This record gives sequence, C-alpha cells and structure tokens, in this order.
Amino acid sequence: MALLNDNYLKLKAGYLFPEIGRRVKVFCEANPEAAKRLIRCGIGDVTEALPPAVIAALHKAVDEMADRATFKGYGPEQGYDWLRAAIAQNDYRAHGLDVADDEIFVSDGSKCDCGSILDILGGKNKIAISDPVYPVYVDTNVMAGHTGEANEAGAYAKLAYLPCRPSNGFVPEPPKRHVDVIYLCSPNNPTGAVATRAQLEAWVKYALEHKAVILFDAAYEAYISDAAIPHSIYEIPGARECAIEFRSCSKNGGFTGVRCAFTVVPKTLLAQTKTGEFKPLHPLWSRRMTTKFNGVSYITQRGAEALYSPGGKAQVRALIEHYMGNAAVLRKGAKKAGLKVFGGENAPYIWVRTPKGVTSWEAFDKILGDANVVITPGSGFGSKGEGYFRISSFNSRANAEEVARRLQELKW
Ligand SMILES: *Cc1c(COP(=O)(O)O)cnc(C)c1O
Repeated sequence: MALLNDNYLKLKAGYLFPEIGRRVKVFCEANPEAAKRLIRCGIGDVTEALPPAVIAALHKAVDEMADRATFKGYGPEQGYDWLRAAIAQNDYRAHGLDVADDEIFVSDGSKCDCGSILDILGGKNKIAISDPVYPVYVDTNVMAGHTGEANEAGAYAKLAYLPCRPSNGFVPEPPKRHVDVIYLCSPNNPTGAVATRAQLEAWVKYALEHKAVILFDAAYEAYISDAAIPHSIYEIPGARECAIEFRSCSKNGGFTGVRCAFTVVPKTLLAQTKTGEFKPLHPLWSRRMTTKFNGVSYITQRGAEALYSPGGKAQVRALIEHYMGNAAVLRKGAKKAGLKVFGGENAPYIWVRTPKGVTSWEAFDKILGDANVVITPGSGFGSKGEGYFRISSFNSRANAEEVARRLQELKW
C-alpha cells in the first residue's frame, strides 16, 4: 500500500484566492451590470506588457533556436554563465556588494525557490514566520512536515509567528527565544512595509548569534524609492555568513508569465550537521538544483539578460514608475476616504485598516458589492492580517484612478 504525505492534509485547503474567486463569481452572476464595471486589485500580478528590450531578446533567441548552428539544448542547471555574471555584476557588485557569479542560481521562480530551499535544511529547525505573511513560506513548511496542525485561526503548531503591527512598522523584531530559520520579505507582500537598515542589522546580529539562517525575499526590491532602505540583505555586514537571498524578474521585469528568478547562496554561509560540524550550504543547493532541476529555458534567460541592458534598465524603471504612480493615487484615494493607510511608498501594495468593527472579509464584501472593486482581505495572510485589506497597484492608471474615486464614495 502506498502511503501519502499526511502533511498535505494539514493544509488549510488553498483558502484565500479560491474563496475570493468564488465570491466574485457569485456576485457577478447575481449582478451582471455591476460585473461590467468590476476592477480587480486583488491578486499580485503585473498587468503591463514586457519591456521592448526583453521582447527583442526573446525574438532573437527564438531565431537562434530555429537554426541548427545556434540551437541550444540543455543548458547549465544553475543558469548560463552570462546571465549569472550580469546578475552578480548589476544587482550586487555595481552596488559594492561582494557576490560571485557562481553564488547566483537561476530558476523559474522565487515561489519555487522559497519552497525548494527546505530541501537543503534539516527537518528539526525552529522556523520563524511573520504574521501576516506570503502564504508560500507557511505552506511549504507544512508540506515538509515542519509544523503541527493548524488551529481555528489558521496558525500552525511548532511555527514561531512574529506579529507585524503598526507599532513595529509591520516589520517583525527578532524574538527573545531561539529560532533557526527566519523568513523576511522586504519590501513586503502583503503589507507594503520595508525593513530599515537598523532593523535588518538587528536580524543579522540575531542570526549570527543564534547560528540561524535568514531567508530574505527581495522580490520587490525594485520598488524601493527611499535611498536609506537596503535593496539586499548583503548590504548588512555579516549577512554573507547567515543569509540566502531570493530575487525574481516577475515584479520588476513583468516576468510573472515568462518565469525567471534567482537565489543567492554565499559560499561563506554555513549550517550545522547532526554531529555539530559546520558545512557550507552552497554545494548542497548546487547539488539540489543539478539533480531536481534542468535549468530555465535559453530563450527566457536571454530575455532576463536584456533586463540588465541600458535600454532594459530604463524600461524597467518606467514600469516601476507606472505602478508606483498607481500606488500614490490609491494611497491618496484611500486616505481621502478616511481610511488608515500603510505601505505603497516602497512597494506596490497598500495595506489598509478596515473601519472600526469591520472584519477583513466584511470589508471585502462591502467593497465588492458597493464599489465593484476586488481587494484582498488581510486575514487571508494570517491572523494578524485581520482588520486590514490589501490593494494592489498592478493595474492601468485609469483603473487606479477609478478605484481611488470609488473608495471615496463608499458609505461604511
Ligand atoms: C510575487 C512574489 C514572488 C515572486 O514569485 P515568482 O515565482 O518569481 O513569480 C516572491 N515572493 C513574493 C513575496 C511575491 O509576492
């Protein structure tokens, strides 16, 4: 008899986005006229076309694949050398950060990387996760058997939840107790908060003291406008000894449908064996990638490389400015509507306090029913997200302006 992985049965059956989809469908079927003016600011997916530099590079790569002389089969599992070099040079060394080409591992997405990284970490680690949080960090730990069952509020036994509130600027502080693995996401999805240099320094200090590993998700680093906010965990001295960084082309280059990302594993990052010896994680990740992954397509990697060309960089800047222009419009609209607003200044997400006594899902239903706008209820990201909702800036400017207007018309 084949046994299944019982851990999957602990998962709170993909609750958030299916439930949003269900409620939107019911509403649209019952209100076909209102359905025509529906604006979606729920899911965190980009809306604008790929940068022209990327399109040109993709076309050129397709043509190479069409000719036997330039055709490419399997590439290196860790990514082509020219892409690893472009990343290490442009994202790190150009900013004075010490990252070698072969510390970059190219993949088909940060979502997969955030989950796959657990392959190279032990099963007995104490895992710290922010609340609210990107659900991938939680669910992949549930699948790997690192948690107990979930309680009524959806919190899993054995995970260390780090509350994010207005009082800490929605950036968790290092806990008093010991943890071994810490997920940090800055700029943050869902709260739009960013960790300051001092906050990241406190985390690196904690990680070094506790011999812990920080998993730093910088998927939204391109959205940082404040010059004082670090773009990389490696801007903090000591981070090369305690942190892995995840980055993605999804939110800067609009690659959500193309698929390219990378993970940085410094060779100086060690973790402990069962017998207490310290060994580098880099060869383990390399082994994991070469065994379980066969590389990102040549065409896609050429597209990603184009993001680092002068034209590509300028076009990415324009995309970010477009979305952050939306964020400013939405922030202003929500504020004028009398709502308490967070985020949206160094991140494409606005985190909004619901009016007093209104739950996240009640706010969702109200905004859907009266404004015909889809947002994301904060409680779907964790128990501390209750009493908030997230508005995404990934939209056209006209839609962002319309949403801002409709928010002000709402009578709570
Ligand atoms: C969108 C997003 C990513 C990127 O995921 P990809 O798989 O690279 O598209 C990573 N982390 C967070 C928190 C995100 O919101």
